[in-house]
Amino acid sequence: MSTTPTIGVLALQGDVREHLGALADAGAPARPVRRPEELAEIGGLVIPGGESTTMSKLAVSFGMLEPLRAFVRAGRPVYGTCAGMIMVADKLLDGRDDQETLGGIDMIVRRNAFGRQNESFEAAIEVAGIGGGPVEGVFIRAPWVESVGASAEVLATYGGHTVAVRQGNVLATSFHPELTGDHRIHALFVEMVRAAAAAGERA
Ligand code: GLN
Repeated sequence: MSTTPTIGVLALQGDVREHLGALADAGAPARPVRRPEELAEIGGLVIPGGESTTMSKLAVSFGMLEPLRAFVRAGRPVYGTCAGMIMVADKLLDGRDDQETLGGIDMIVRRNAFGRQNESFEAAIEVAGIGGGPVEGVFIRAPWVESVGASAEVLATYGGHTVAVRQGNVLATSFHPELTGDHRIHALFVEMVRAAAAAGERA
């Protein structure tokens, strides 16, 4: 089938509305998701930027932590931006002691690595697989990827640090494409979701 599956945006905390708009621009029906049963109704999930310790806490109190982990483990497509990148890291540095991640990418992510809120910045980022020139990377108290395992593919670096990674159906960026008008990375994720749905239909 050529219809695009609905993509969810995890709506516990963070810039949910911006991602819903970016996904719609990239050609996918999109909806907020905050309850476990809603995960069965979507073809892929975006985890937005925001504050990862708060997101982790809310995931626990909404009973979403284990359902989200299961979603990732099942190979369903997930795209995390900034705090969302932290959420899909197998290992975290400079997190809070009680902070949980979902895992999904064999990488070590350092939280707040690029500095404090007032050290937020924008930079042109070349991303592997994204044609048409660099994307505008908006970094807000952003994490970077300290190291990746063999199965993770580095898609972009900035200042010697990895800022975009993909492993199978999980994609993560340190920066926020949803805050720019350029939705090529969302379009890549929409393609990942379409491909996963098509593979599911063939299976
Ligand atoms: N520093 C934030 C955190 O630890 C992430 C910032 C963001 O998502 N813009 O979650």
